[in-house]
Amino acid sequence: MDISIKFQILAIGILIVIMVDFLCSKKLPLISTKTFTLFWAASFFNLLADIGSYYTITHMDSVPEWLNRLMHQLFLGSLNAMVFLLFMYVWFLCGAQKRISKPVLFGCTIPFIIAIGFAIFGKIDYIVDDRGAYSSGPMVTVFYISVAVYIVAIIVLLCTRNKRYNLENSEILPDFKHARVSILVGLCIWAAIALVQFFTTYWLLSAMGNALMVLYVYMRFENPREYMDSETDTLNRRAFHIMMREMFARNKTFYIFNLTLDEVESIQKAMGYDMPKEILRQAAAKISRDFPHIRIYHSRSCTMTMLVYDRETLDKIIACTESWDFRCDTASADSAFSPYYHFNIIECPKYAQTADEAYETLDYCLNDRTMSENGKIYFVSDELVEKRNYRKAVLAILTEAVRTKAFNVVYQPIYSAKKRRFASAEALVRLQDTTTVGFISPEYFIPLAEEQGLISEIGNIVFEKVCEFAAREKLWQLGIDYVEVNLSGVQSVDIGIVAQLSKIMTKYGVHPGFFNLEITETASIDGGDMLQYNMEQFRKLGCHFSMDDFGTGYSNLSQMAKVHFELIKLDKSLIWPCFGDDPTEPRIILNSCIDMILQLGVNIVAEGVETAEQAEMLINKGVVYLQGYYFCRPVPEADFIKAVKEKLAQQNVNA
Ligand code: C2E
Ligand code: CA
Ligand code: CA
Repeated sequence: MDISIKFQILAIGILIVIMVDFLCSKKLPLISTKTFTLFWAASFFNLLADIGSYYTITHMDSVPEWLNRLMHQLFLGSLNAMVFLLFMYVWFLCGAQKRISKPVLFGCTIPFIIAIGFAIFGKIDYIVDDRGAYSSGPMVTVFYISVAVYIVAIIVLLCTRNKRYNLENSEILPDFKHARVSILVGLCIWAAIALVQFFTTYWLLSAMGNALMVLYVYMRFENPREYMDSETDTLNRRAFHIMMREMFARNKTFYIFNLTLDEVESIQKAMGYDMPKEILRQAAAKISRDFPHIRIYHSRSCTMTMLVYDRETLDKIIACTESWDFRCDTASADSAFSPYYHFNIIECPKYAQTADEAYETLDYCLNDRTMSENGKIYFVSDELVEKRNYRKAVLAILTEAVRTKAFNVVYQPIYSAKKRRFASAEALVRLQDTTTVGFISPEYFIPLAEEQGLISEIGNIVFEKVCEFAAREKLWQLGIDYVEVNLSGVQSVDIGIVAQLSKIMTKYGVHPGFFNLEITETASIDGGDMLQYNMEQFRKLGCHFSMDDFGTGYSNLSQMAKVHFELIKLDKSLIWPCFGDDPTEPRIILNSCIDMILQLGVNIVAEGVETAEQAEMLINKGVVYLQGYYFCRPVPEADFIKAVKEKLAQQNVNA
């Protein structure tokens, strides 16, 4: 068999293998992927035409002239189509999948159309001698020129598009620089093969070159495995992101339908770390059985997402949700695990106009604990969008505040019934800039800061301000024995916290004994060994500890015995009900809490004391320290100094 035919058969084999692999895997309906399919088809057709034309040229005596010409026309036309499609492919790839306007598209096809014109009407010569056969003439020359134009155009695209679409940050080509090199390398190989063919003319290598180019593009850019999440057998996060962007670009209504697993940590504790993924995998398989044409994405660690294109399908899915049973088969044959889950649906672009907004909404839904009734469907509404926007605005203010250290610290004095003066104070953080959204409670922004990894910086800023203030005003000379500073749960288990805070104390020359670090009851229970370790280190320096919000967590008594606190702060929720409509039971609880803590030899601070009646009762029960609006609200530095001095003066008068 002729060597050229061998190359061509091999090339056909390569193309078929690529297509079988391509067809057997889940794909995204991206415009680049569709172009790739056309590119493949043109190559395949070109190979067949190549074989055909080779046959007709070598059998010119038995084949009619028109057939020989036709085969050459088909060959040159399809080869031209290939380069044109490759150009379009690179265009879509580099243009972040943006669609192309009709005039531009027309402009791009001009060289192709001219080449086709020559292919139809141009002159072609056939050269056959004892070394082999090939064609030449204007038809062939124009074809080569057209190919060269597209190759140059591809190179220009690669060098200029990058800046225009800011592709450095593109998710479609996250490594654009490498992608650019890849395409260029592919082109060089192709060009080299074409060049060899051009000069040797008898070696019909182009078939092999084309197949290799298709293979190269397939492996480098179109490999469907890039979009698969093998653990759950669904499409991965990147695929979701790309498709969502594509959906927004279409500017039509679509729905993001999420299935979110709840109580993931408890599932992991009870059933093993990988169980949530297994539940999601089985759930996705069940959904796929009902809706085989819908793509399912593993969009978040505990969420499966479907992008639904129309209301009708959405309604069908909603109707199906009740029948879905996501019980998950476990390793032991006859037990199945029933997970908690819920759904939420975002109508786009009504409630999320961009991919970023869709992510924010998704994040918001994930964090909103009110939306987790088992099996329930939640529709994203105006109200939720408002909450999401508020959160976003606060987050922007918070991030900016961290950058510019724009936090204030206010101080709430703590009254000592024994010393009859303000003996300490709690430092409370305030955000400086709240002009756009009004006052933002730390109860709102502190958890947000924890979630966003900003809390350590805020903690350091607050601590530095407190140290500076204490050193400047020499608070200890005003009868303030110590200042209470809140440590968030995240901070209290941060390995670097001791070093950070002790550095700040040294900088301002304030003795660590002047600080009581407040750790909430919940954090002290969740903190584990790291918390114990940090507390030990702080204690070695001389710091003390208060348990904050006693009565709001699980009040794990055995844990309380393990972790030692100098002070326990009774939460207002333990105190206020004692003065409500039905005070009998709350009083029993409060009394025994106070008795227990005092017997343990730990001091008590009562929080949220708002009336004289409350203060009196608590003092009678043996509570020494009181904090609340009745004594003083949290106030800025100057007012705090004033309040402390006033109380001191009163005490002197009474004495
Ligand atoms: P918390 O540690 O329990 O602080 C006491 C909260 O109760 C303060 O709210 C205070 O203004 C308020 N309060 C004091 N007396 C009364 C009263 O008589 N009646 C009522 N209704 N409220 C009273 P604030 O300043 O809004 O702080 C809320 C929470 O934010 C704090 O609760 C604390 O958990 C957190 N937080 C505040 N500052 C910081 C900080 O610097 N770091 C950390 N990690 N958390 C902070
Ligand atoms: Ca506190
Ligand atoms: Ca508290």
